[in-house]
Amino acid sequence: MPFPHEPFREPAIWMKYDHLTVKQRLDHLGGLSQFEKDIFESNVATFGSAPGSDIGFTEVLRWFALGGHSMAGVFERAGIYKLGNGGMTAFARAILRDFQGDVLFNTVVQKVDQGRNGVSLQMQDGRRIDAKAVVSTIPLNCLGDITFNPPLSALKTDAIASGHINKGAKIHFSLAATEPGWFATCSASGTSLYVFALSDHNGHEPSGPRGTWCIGFGYNGHLVDKRNSKGIIEAFRENLRPDAEVQAYLTHNWMNDPYAKGNWSCWGPNRFSRSVQELQKADGRVFFASADWADGWRGFVDGAIESGQKSANDVKEFLNSQHRVKL
Ligand SMILES: Cc1cc2nc3c(=O)[nH]c(=O)nc-3n(C[C@H](O)[C@H](O)[C@H](O)COP(=O)(O)OP(=O)(O)OC[C@H]3O[C@@H](n4cnc5c(N)ncnc54)[C@H](O)[C@@H]3O)c2cc1C
Repeated sequence: MPFPHEPFREPAIWMKYDHLTVKQRLDHLGGLSQFEKDIFESNVATFGSAPGSDIGFTEVLRWFALGGHSMAGVFERAGIYKLGNGGMTAFARAILRDFQGDVLFNTVVQKVDQGRNGVSLQMQDGRRIDAKAVVSTIPLNCLGDITFNPPLSALKTDAIASGHINKGAKIHFSLAATEPGWFATCSASGTSLYVFALSDHNGHEPSGPRGTWCIGFGYNGHLVDKRNSKGIIEAFRENLRPDAEVQAYLTHNWMNDPYAKGNWSCWGPNRFSRSVQELQKADGRVFFASADWADGWRGFVDGAIESGQKSANDVKEFLNSQHRVKL
C-alpha cells in the first residue's frame, strides 16, 4: 500500500489481496518456520485483539505502510508516544473548551429523520432536535441501533451489520516489582486469553521509580467479566508474567459498552475495499465522521481528527451551497 492516507489512489494493488485474512496470507508464504509465523501473527494480532484468522490482511498492510513501511515503525508510532499533561481527558476537555455551541450530555440519539429542508433527531428521552445538517460521530458498531428514515444505502447497511472485529479487553495492572520496560505477545493458536501486554511506567513519585504499571489486552470476547478478579489475575500470571505480584487492576468493558461496542476499529477481510468509501459518504444532510472509517489512521485518535475535519468542511460547503441556492 504505497499511499496509506489515500488508499484508493492508483496503483491500489492492495485491493487484490483484500479477501485474505492474515492467517491465509501467512499460510501462502514459504521459507518461514511455524515459530516465525506464530511470532509474526501474535504481533499483528495486537492490531485487532484477534487471531490472524479474523483480521483482514490489508489491515496489516495499512498499519505497515503507516509505520513508514517497517514493523519497527509501526510499534514506534502506535506504542511509544503518549499525550502528556492529563492525557486523553485533558485533550477532550481542551476540545470542549474550544467548542462554541450548545452541549447536551447523556442524551442518546434513537432516530434520524430526514426531510427536504432539514434533519430531525429523536432522542431516547423523548426530546427532538431539528437542524439543517447533522454530523454523526456514532461508532460503526453502534450505528445499527439508530433508525434512519429514509434508510441508509444497502452498502452502508451491509457495512454496519458487519461492523469491525475488535472487541478485546484492556486492563491496567499495578505490579509490586519495579521492572524495566517490557512488551509481550501471546500466540493466537494457544490457550492464552491475553493477546499482548506492555509495561507503561514505574510511577510518578518524586522519590523515584516504585512498582510497575502495565496494560494487558485480551483476545476478542475473553476477560469480559471485569469483576472476575481471580480469572483476570490468574490468566495474567499464567499467560504473561508468572512471577508478577498483581496489586490492583482497573478496566472498562468497552465491548459491552452500548455506546462503543468495541475497541479501536480493525476490520476483517473484504471490508476495506467494500465499505470504507461508502461509510465516508454523506447521506443527504447527514454527514458521518468517525475514526472507524478514516483513511489513514483508522482506529486512532488521528483518524477521528482526519474524519472530523473532512466532515466539518463538507458540512460548511453543503450549507454554503444551500445559502447560494436561496439567493
Ligand atoms: C481501549 C482503547 C484503547 C485505544 N488506544 C488508542 C491509542 O493508544 N491511540 C489512539 O490513537 N487511539 C486509541 N484508541 C482508539 C481511539 O480512542 C478511537 O479511535 C477514537 O477515540 C474514536 O473517536 P471518534 O470521535 O470517532 O469516536 P468516539 O470517541 O468513540 O465518540 C463516539 C461518541 O458517540 C457516542 N454515542 C454512541 N452511540 C450514541 C447514541 N446512540 N447517541 C448519542 N451518542 C452516541 C459515544 O458515547 C461517544 O461519545 C483506543 C480505543 C480504545 C477503546
